[in-house]
Amino acid sequence: MSLQMVDLRRQVAEIREELDAAIAAVLDSGAFVRGPFVRDFQEGLGAFLTDDRGTPHTLGVANGTDALQIAYQALGLGPGDEVIMPAFTFCATAEAAALLGATPVFADIDPATFNLDPAQVEAAITPRTKAIVPVHLFGQCAELAAFERIAERHGLALIEDTAQAVGTQHIGPDGTLRWAGTVGDIGTVSFYPSKNLGAYGDGGALLSHSATLHELMRQTANHGAARKYYHTTVGVNSRLDGIQAAILGVHLRHLPAWTRARQLVAACYDAAFIPSAFVTRPARASYSTHVFHQYVVRVPAAARDRLRDALKVQGIPSMVYYPVPLHEMPAFADARVAGSLAETERACREVLALPMHPWLSMADVERVADAVLSFFGERTVEATASAAELIA
Ligand SMILES: *Cc1c(COP(=O)(O)O)cnc(C)c1O
Repeated sequence: MSLQMVDLRRQVAEIREELDAAIAAVLDSGAFVRGPFVRDFQEGLGAFLTDDRGTPHTLGVANGTDALQIAYQALGLGPGDEVIMPAFTFCATAEAAALLGATPVFADIDPATFNLDPAQVEAAITPRTKAIVPVHLFGQCAELAAFERIAERHGLALIEDTAQAVGTQHIGPDGTLRWAGTVGDIGTVSFYPSKNLGAYGDGGALLSHSATLHELMRQTANHGAARKYYHTTVGVNSRLDGIQAAILGVHLRHLPAWTRARQLVAACYDAAFIPSAFVTRPARASYSTHVFHQYVVRVPAAARDRLRDALKVQGIPSMVYYPVPLHEMPAFADARVAGSLAETERACREVLALPMHPWLSMADVERVADAVLSFFGERTVEATASAAELIA
């Protein structure tokens, strides 16, 4: 089987019978929008994300971009309001704010984790600032305890873009574990098929421990209606459908095992790259677990694109997340840049995502690592032997 960045056909093959049964149940019921399948999945997701703080409210929506927009709308963000976020993220984080007339404010990242740097955020705050949006990039939490303190001190909302990090846990200074997406005021989730918890189409969710925000978001996603045909605000139409919810319910059962498989693949890559003078492995923050939505290394900027070509020739795919920072995109010309974004710009030049999914074998990982290292004139042999020991 050929190497892929994500292997959804393998995913389907592994759980085909469960999927067929789940989809058939929706077809038999006729409940295609809202209804019991969406409710069941929302409940299952809430149960999965339960911790010492209890069970968060969960709301299925049409996709992760809508989830961000609905979160911003529920907080009342609009013209004149500033929202601090990284420029090293998928465009949706900023796009949803800009669509509402709010101003995205880009602050720099921590070069070790690629996540928003709390010190840079604090320096970017003005009287117009309304919210901070850390993105848990590549499957690892941003430094949430620091963002909670900053949000509290300045009276700001904290929204976690959890599109890439469902199932990640934040580790508090006292060792308390909290699920990514349930720590701030609102967490937004994407179920795009390639995400760790993906549908077979579009989907998204909103998480919150606040019943008030949950109700506001529920209304906003439902045409701003408190009840049918009584519209209190201008909302949107954003729904998770029954078939996607049923599929997501099946995937949720497998998510813990899939996450462990990703972590194993990451450990194998890590071991293989230990001896390399050219490949910088992804750092593990002390305050987070890592679910490896992506396995992203840094390589010297001058070599990165040639390395991609060399891998491609050998049938090894790779990707650059993200080649251009948001502040350099024409779409966000009206956004504000807070301070230097030097680390953001350097990350765009140096990062490389290697194949990462639960169905990669040790041999696949060795093949990829070998190809990367031999490009730099390095070898893996001893390293892969120690990878096996590491996992054993
Ligand atoms: C995927 C993603 C989104 C958007 O999700 P969609 O479901 O594709 O709309 C938002 N933010 C980040 C960081 C993402 O990776």
